[in-house]
Amino acid sequence: MFPSAGPEPVSPICSAKGCRAAAVWVLAWNNPKLHTPERRKTWLACEEHREHLSQFLGVRGFLKDVVTLGEWERRAQDGAGPGA
Ligand SMILES: [Zn+2]
Repeated sequence: MFPSAGPEPVSPICSAKGCRAAAVWVLAWNNPKLHTPERRKTWLACEEHREHLSQFLGVRGFLKDVVTLGEWERRAQDGAGPGA
């Protein structure tokens, strides 16, 4: 357990279980049983876990897109329409 002590710079962390590495990739996915088709859930991944996480989503047919964090943020800024 880590005590939550004070503010620290928010750097995105890999979503893989137990991994504390900085995220480099964004995996955009959608579970059609839970989400509307336009909805995108995102996982973050470091270099090491990108393949593992994308396979996890891929075999379930959930994976929609894999882009670098920089590209993802650029897209978000380009303003992809309404909604958050
Ligand atoms: Zn990782």
